[in-house]
Amino acid sequence: MHDVVIAGAGPVGLFLACELRLADISVLVLEQAEDPHSPLKQVPFGMRGLSVPTVEALYRRGLLDDLTAPQRMKNALGHGGASTAHWMQQPRRPGGHFAGIQFYEDNIDTAKWPYRLQSPAGASMATTMEHIESVLAVRAHAMGVEIMRGYSVEGLDQSDSGVTIRAGGETFHGRWLVGCDGGRSIVRKAGGVEFVGTEPEFTGYSVEVEMADPDKLVPGRHYTPTGMYTYQQPGTVAMVDFDGGAFHRTRPITLEHVQSVLRHISGADVTVTTLKLATTWTDRAFQATTYRNGRVLLAGDAAHIHSPLGGQGLNLGLGDAMNLGWKLAATIRGDAPEGLLDSYCTERYPLGSQILDWSRAQVAVMRPSRSSRALEAIMRDLIETRDGATYFAERVWGLSLRYDLGGCHPLVGRSAPDFELADGTRLGERLRNGKGLLLGFDPAGPLQALASGWSGGVSYVASDARDKLGLSAVLVRPDGIVAWACEVAPDQEELAQAASRYFIKA
Ligand SMILES: Cc1cc2nc3c(=O)[nH]c(=O)nc-3n(C[C@H](O)[C@H](O)[C@H](O)COP(=O)(O)OP(=O)(O)OC[C@H]3O[C@@H](n4cnc5c(N)ncnc54)[C@H](O)[C@@H]3O)c2cc1C
Repeated sequence: MHDVVIAGAGPVGLFLACELRLADISVLVLEQAEDPHSPLKQVPFGMRGLSVPTVEALYRRGLLDDLTAPQRMKNALGHGGASTAHWMQQPRRPGGHFAGIQFYEDNIDTAKWPYRLQSPAGASMATTMEHIESVLAVRAHAMGVEIMRGYSVEGLDQSDSGVTIRAGGETFHGRWLVGCDGGRSIVRKAGGVEFVGTEPEFTGYSVEVEMADPDKLVPGRHYTPTGMYTYQQPGTVAMVDFDGGAFHRTRPITLEHVQSVLRHISGADVTVTTLKLATTWTDRAFQATTYRNGRVLLAGDAAHIHSPLGGQGLNLGLGDAMNLGWKLAATIRGDAPEGLLDSYCTERYPLGSQILDWSRAQVAVMRPSRSSRALEAIMRDLIETRDGATYFAERVWGLSLRYDLGGCHPLVGRSAPDFELADGTRLGERLRNGKGLLLGFDPAGPLQALASGWSGGVSYVASDARDKLGLSAVLVRPDGIVAWACEVAPDQEELAQAASRYFIKA
């Protein structure tokens, strides 16, 4: 029997497996696909934008260097080469978009983010699904995660003490089961969790084609009276056809069909001569009503799906894994405070909901209607203002992430600043062991005694820092989120109370 069985070796399942192994939990991953490779996981359709919280999570686990091998990635804006340079040091360039409407980095008011420090993990970036999965799989193997490919989870039964899982004609037992098996999750269905949301308005197409007359299409993104398309030379096209999602997964994607949709949306009489690669998607936006039912948990697309507009799904899923791993590990060890595991859903569900709405709002701008063109014009005006660009950057880059953890300091619930300590190390590096961290900037302070004896092991570091941001001490959870912070002499009772939400005294 394994402590945890994970269904699905996608990026979320693999990252969660690494998080659990970091805490010495035994993990089995069951993956339906025999072969992890697919052309859809490679450039161009496999490109995935990673938001700042995702990059920070990978950095805090020592995975960022593996991911940023320069030949294999480019930054989120399409510039080649390593992209870990801080956003504040970049020349003028687009910072991202909302429904295709760009905001620019030099229009962003970074003074609104007083707690962000320069960091190797300070910028969003992009990679391919193939690359991130392979980096995570290598790490998972090295950490002793057992991955069984060719095993499709078909059903489950849970009891008070564990879960029995049927996969590939065999039976497996885990004390817990986590469904990371994507949008059509069997674990979610068999685990009895409802999935609710809004039905699709369109079928989206990502296709790679050869055309007899490519000059008939203008490169770039275009809203037309019948939909939207983006064209990148030599032959990469994305299209949105407002058919109510009717085509998606109902028929084979043929050359004739692609040509007909492209003509219909672009209004250009193009001739497609070769269909090299094609996939469809929709704006169906659904979320599990809970991320936990007994010993069955959900993470990633298994818990929430939405259109890829704005590229948030992978980020949301990896954030789920970072939030869940240490909480589930503490629960298995028996040293989790009451309610810690349930805080996974309490913290992550509202965030998932927000992201689903973010994708829905983009659909409202994209509809082929006069009112949507009017909305687009207003959004363009707003995004060009300094406040507008800053707002969109916060949302797109993930900087607005803040859990409602109580506490009166504005940093509580946010990602910890990457303090550079007196010995040259950074806070992010100190989190690689997956433990909590109590950082006191006054070595003579009384915090060390408090830190010792907390369950799961909270590292204590007393050090000066290059920029303390006016703080005297900070307690950081294993997932890099600030649990408590103070600017004056630490109130030990307040600290102990904040810590008691995440750790128990041994
Ligand atoms: C065109 C497109 C562009 C996108 N761009 C972005 C982007 O830029 N940024 C971003 O953040 N997100 C983006 N996304 C979304 C992102 O790809 C997903 O949110 C992400 O892959 C979810 O990861 P996951 O591990 O939860 O699920 P998946 O990647 O779907 O992995 C699930 C795994 O479970 C396996 N599995 C399924 N069923 C079973 C079963 N019964 N038993 C065992 N194994 C099973 C599957 O084979 C798969 O390996 C995009 C999506 C699309 C379609």
